[in-house]
Amino acid sequence: MRVNILKFMQKLRNIAIIAHVDHGKTTLVDKMIMAGNLLREASKTGELVLDNNDLERERGITILSKNVSVIYKDYKINIIDTPGHADFGGEVERVLNMCDGVLLLVDAFEGTMPQTRFVLQKALQIGLKPIVVVNKVDKPNCRPEEVYEMVFDLMFSLEATEEQLDFPVLYGSAKNNWMSKDWRNQTDNLIPLLDAIIEHIPAPEKLEGTPQMLITSLDYSPYTGRIAVGRVHRGTLKKGMNITIAHRDGTMEKTKIKEVHTFEGMARQEAESVSSGDICAVVGLERFEIGDTICDFEAPEALPTIAIDEPTMSMLFTIND
Ligand code: GDP
Repeated sequence: MRVNILKFMQKLRNIAIIAHVDHGKTTLVDKMIMAGNLLREASKTGELVLDNNDLERERGITILSKNVSVIYKDYKINIIDTPGHADFGGEVERVLNMCDGVLLLVDAFEGTMPQTRFVLQKALQIGLKPIVVVNKVDKPNCRPEEVYEMVFDLMFSLEATEEQLDFPVLYGSAKNNWMSKDWRNQTDNLIPLLDAIIEHIPAPEKLEGTPQMLITSLDYSPYTGRIAVGRVHRGTLKKGMNITIAHRDGTMEKTKIKEVHTFEGMARQEAESVSSGDICAVVGLERFEIGDTICDFEAPEALPTIAIDEPTMSMLFTIND
């Protein structure tokens, strides 16, 4: 019985994506989702139906929301956007803590930009495995090899471990829908990147027991109000379940979940339950904040919360001597 349940469980990968603005993040994620959909269709019908109208229709209307997923083979790859800036509120850490790996996307012409340094450093510090994508190698004056060196030097200066420095690198053109291990050897798809994610990013740990989810970000729906988003740390959250919210200030509140959703492609999708390792959106909670834990109704156990400190500044005013 147990074996059967396991067999139908989807395999997961959770990755954060770090990119400087305009380096092609939206384009790449769009194309990854499309690639997953096309491959799935192909496996159903036996042929690859690459319809240009579909491509045109999707192009330009898809905006990268905070969380999306790509279905590839029997994997679901959750892709989590990172803030493109340094912050002092713990937002970067919270987002990165949902992931087991990170995709660093760099323009093959511009190279690494100082603005991504902070987020990359945090990712390396918490031990995430990086994959590097050198994008836009179709550009005439691009310099992919130099850019690879730049990325390596940057990671080295950020004290990446030896294992992190051994990062896989993919070169390609998100715009032209291809990725390859060798930039001179153009392919006609994104499979090398999707395979690299499956191969190099570890699967999330699946913990059994009473449910626990740290609320790491918020979503909003005009119909249902505020939505709590996080990675289910342990156990399973179910639709209609009684739970306790362990607030950051230590108080406990017994309440009930209305719905649980997962991120499927560009959209949220309602589910019966969401289990340890997957990214979950919880609908129908009244009072909660980032840093609270959703936990068991009877035996609540809070997760360590992540500091949310106000930006601070100190100045010293002294006599001018
Ligand atoms: P984001 O700000 O990182 O999300 O970047 P976008 O995906 O919006 O891309 C920024 C611009 O770069 C757009 O005009 C894209 O069409 C273009 N772009 C994205 N990928 C490539 C690529 O592989 N090659 C070229 N030449 N342009 C690209």
